[in-house]
Amino acid sequence: MATGVRLDLDGRPIKPMTICMIGAGGFIGSHLCEKLMAETPHKVLALDVYNDKIKHLLEPDSLPWAGRIQFHRLNIKNDSRLEGLIKMADLTINLAAICTPADYNTRPLDTIYSNFIDALPVVKYCSENNKRLIHFSTCEVYGKTIGSFLPKDSSLRQDPAYYVLKEDASPCIFGPIEKQRWSYACAKQLIERLIYAEGAENGLEFTIVRPFNWIGPRMDFIPGIDGPSEGVPRVLACFSNNLLRREPLKLVDGGQSQRTFVYIKDAIEAVHLMIENPDRANGQIFNVGNPHNEVTVRQLAEMMTEVYAKVSGEPPIEEPTIDVSSKEFYGEGYDDSDKRIPDMTIINRQLSWNPKTSLWDLLESTLTYQHRTYAEAIKKVIAKPVAS
Ligand code: NAD
Ligand code: UDP
Repeated sequence: MATGVRLDLDGRPIKPMTICMIGAGGFIGSHLCEKLMAETPHKVLALDVYNDKIKHLLEPDSLPWAGRIQFHRLNIKNDSRLEGLIKMADLTINLAAICTPADYNTRPLDTIYSNFIDALPVVKYCSENNKRLIHFSTCEVYGKTIGSFLPKDSSLRQDPAYYVLKEDASPCIFGPIEKQRWSYACAKQLIERLIYAEGAENGLEFTIVRPFNWIGPRMDFIPGIDGPSEGVPRVLACFSNNLLRREPLKLVDGGQSQRTFVYIKDAIEAVHLMIENPDRANGQIFNVGNPHNEVTVRQLAEMMTEVYAKVSGEPPIEEPTIDVSSKEFYGEGYDDSDKRIPDMTIINRQLSWNPKTSLWDLLESTLTYQHRTYAEAIKKVIAKPVAS
């Protein structure tokens, strides 16, 4: 950890704080805990049902930050310790959620409960106890772009006014109710509105984060290795799994949807700035993404295939991709966001933050990690004779 007085963006000393981090055992939480332990004096009360992704920070007791991170295994749905832990902290960060698209249309009730109902007590306890809250929402609250409703050949589709997503101007456009894909976005939107209202009516100090496809090591799971064999994680882990097993990458509905991907380590820098600059972050909703890293899902598949060949030393298979319908891949009720480019004006103005890592570089470091972590385990699973 850096020694000496640490200053915020306005030159004021940063006081050490206690942070109650809910969902600390997940992908983003694990990187945020790492950052806070390595580079700040803050204490973390890490709450989650799992801790596999932060075990390296908790053990052994001799780690330099031992005593500054404490794991509490609890489910926020039904644990009376939650309010006490929020009260002990200066700041609460809520990351807990069901947030894999394969669940939105197949487990819509769990999705809505997790993203709205289960977050309610967190907001309430923060508001009642005058505690600051950083809540993780999603870029998916924007839904589809206005441009996606224009005729295919309309020149307006090229105009950023019809697709760049702005926190304080863009509408939230979801599909019909029977497209249960939008259960997640809708629940996230309602909790955003509730937090905003707590700020307006009761003075809650809040920051809302809208991540735009943060990716990197420890994201989700590899089916059959550290997660269920039939599970469907987000695209980075799906494609990593296909590459590790030397099977074609599955392009849902032709892989035409577009995404911007940001490296987890860049994105964590943004959260770090929010934590330590409350005067600049309170009352704000922030897009956090990398507008320069835009690709179609098909292009992502092609780039991952190329990068994986480089880091693994194994040439790609003959037919590296295969088309599948969304119905086949996700089931009934799937729908998709067409394009996601974050407007960066607000985060630039408030926190002077900009992402740094190119898509190629972030895929190279992430796929190096995937190869080192999983290649041997996959080989063993593949070599095992199937029980008859
Ligand atoms: P993740 O699934 O890796 O992490 C979520 C963590 O919350 C998990 O460890 C899970 O065990 C925990 N959790 C869920 N329900 C809980 C409960 N009831 N009690 C205790 N713990 C619980 O996901 P992530 O990618 O780290 O995402 C974190 C947040 O960011 C989520 O709110 C998600 O909606 C949001 N988000 C992430 C991305 C991204 O690009 N990774 C994009 C959009 C939104
Ligand atoms: N996708 C795909 N093949 C896969 C997994 C995902 O083509 O094996 C597509 C999915 O349909 C979506 C995009 O990749 O268009 C990103 O999916 P992800 O699960 O990462 O989440 P999203 O960005 O939709 O929230």
